[in-house]
Amino acid sequence: MDKSNRLKNDAVPKKSRVVPTLLRQMNVRRVLDALRRLGAVSRADLSRVTGISAPTMSKLVEELLQSGLIEADPEMRYATGRPSVMYRMATRSAQILGAVIGMRECAVLATGLDGEIDDRRSRTFATPDSYDALLRTLAAELTAIHKLVEAPCLGVGLSLPGLIKAAAGEMVLSPNIHYLDGRCPGTDLGQLLQLPVVAVQEEHGLCLAERMFGAARGVEHFAMLDISDGLGMGVISGGRLIAGSDGFGGEIGHMTAKLGGELCGCGNRGCLETLATDLAFTRALARRTGRALTMDEIIRDAQAGKLVIEPEINDVLDYLAIGIGTVVNVFNPAMLFVYGRLFAARDGLFDTLVRRVGEHALRPSLQRCKIVRAQGSKRLGAIAAIISSHVNTLGPLLPA
Ligand SMILES: [Zn+2]
Repeated sequence: MDKSNRLKNDAVPKKSRVVPTLLRQMNVRRVLDALRRLGAVSRADLSRVTGISAPTMSKLVEELLQSGLIEADPEMRYATGRPSVMYRMATRSAQILGAVIGMRECAVLATGLDGEIDDRRSRTFATPDSYDALLRTLAAELTAIHKLVEAPCLGVGLSLPGLIKAAAGEMVLSPNIHYLDGRCPGTDLGQLLQLPVVAVQEEHGLCLAERMFGAARGVEHFAMLDISDGLGMGVISGGRLIAGSDGFGGEIGHMTAKLGGELCGCGNRGCLETLATDLAFTRALARRTGRALTMDEIIRDAQAGKLVIEPEINDVLDYLAIGIGTVVNVFNPAMLFVYGRLFAARDGLFDTLVRRVGEHALRPSLQRCKIVRAQGSKRLGAIAAIISSHVNTLGPLLPA
């Protein structure tokens, strides 16, 4: 795609009406959190659970209705003297689209603002081998699922692997999909679809998803380690994402863990990413067995007792424990989420990992840190990114 022809303003998200002050932003977040948690809620109950006064709540609900983020559910009323209109996250009056770019597979999905994933509105396809083909396929697949439900689309969240210059949305380096280097996929896709597209670095998306829909609701200090293809990290400290001056922070996967080790997609050798991921595990097994197995096949065969996964799984867990111990020591998170699939290969693998972290982490920091598997997904990360953008909470959470 000729980048000079790009229409610059197309990918800038249209501002919802709900924006200006920090206080209002916090109030909006509280209302939406309550609706996500409780489902359909009356205005009076929203006031009660959020502590926001009735007149302010009236205005907020009106603005959220106009922005398309919530809708009235006329079917549901209850009597406290007189029937009340119930409000909920928009599921019929608006939809959002999400897309996840992975090293081998991409996913697209459409959901309501409640983030409920419906398999009928979710598709996957093999990652195309060129940038133009990727954009064309994404646009076609997103358009197709958009049409399944007759509701206006508020925008698209796009989860991307690699370093994204936060302000410009430019992919500076994608170690495992190099044709993205120097591109602005969010802007380019926005131009093709004529919709607002918000690009989010995949681990930042996972953090948003865990905070919006998962176990990190209300948690101010947490870290997310993504070990699926590459090894990425997002750290939320004091409610803010630690991203560094350009938004490139958190790349613990490219810490050297083995001098003179395997060549990494970033160009260096022996990066943690080459040793402690789902992909590293499948590659190590393939080297020994001479068979290239997918993670699904590995999980199936290992669980059935048909595939020996030692010593590869031991090595992966050892290196991963070093990585997690480092994160615990450096950032002192209250929770640490691990997003990956290899733990499904056998019962008890995650517990083994957590035990081994103790050999590398400072005890006081580790005692304060709960290490758990992530509940969110990159698909939810894409969805959370576009929702966040619409309520303008991306500001305090992600760098400007
Ligand atoms: Zn590397």
